[in-house]
Amino acid sequence: MKGSEKMVAKKNTNKTNKLTRKATGFNLSKRSRDKLARVHPDLKKVVELALTMYTKEDFAVICGIRTRTEQRRLVQKGASQTMNSRHLPNGQGFARAVDLAWWKDGAISWNTDNLKSFYALDHSADYKGYQAIGVAMKTAAKELNIPIRWGADWDGDGQHTDHTLVDWVHFELPKDHGYD
Ligand SMILES: [Zn+2]
Repeated sequence: MKGSEKMVAKKNTNKTNKLTRKATGFNLSKRSRDKLARVHPDLKKVVELALTMYTKEDFAVICGIRTRTEQRRLVQKGASQTMNSRHLPNGQGFARAVDLAWWKDGAISWNTDNLKSFYALDHSADYKGYQAIGVAMKTAAKELNIPIRWGADWDGDGQHTDHTLVDWVHFELPKDHGYD
């Protein structure tokens, strides 16, 4: 797709980096749209705006809603830590979480067979692309005035190293902001 790693790395050295609202040329694929079908409309709006107007790196929606069976399987594999996942449907049947993967050179930038190490994050060389996606998501959420929490920065302090679980792909509508 677009953007060399060098450019991304440079961009991310500046924490106060402001993104310009401008068509990125990226659009949701059919597969990504299908994954968003049962995601809460507010989170869906943030993902769409981040992808079409802000992100420097293309990304794909790899997970929206999960059944309890799927979630249990992930917990057993060590790819998720909780049965209270916000990917599970709420009372209205919506997931309040999405997982976004960096779409790099025509493929998802990491091996899905290696989910466990990805979620536990051994600081894969690919994490810079995920920082770009995170910045775009935060910028889009701010514009729409929709609060989001990023799995790579649960407390929103801009640091990725002060958490025991760094989940680069995960974004959710926070429970403490009126979302069930
Ligand atoms: Zn997730």
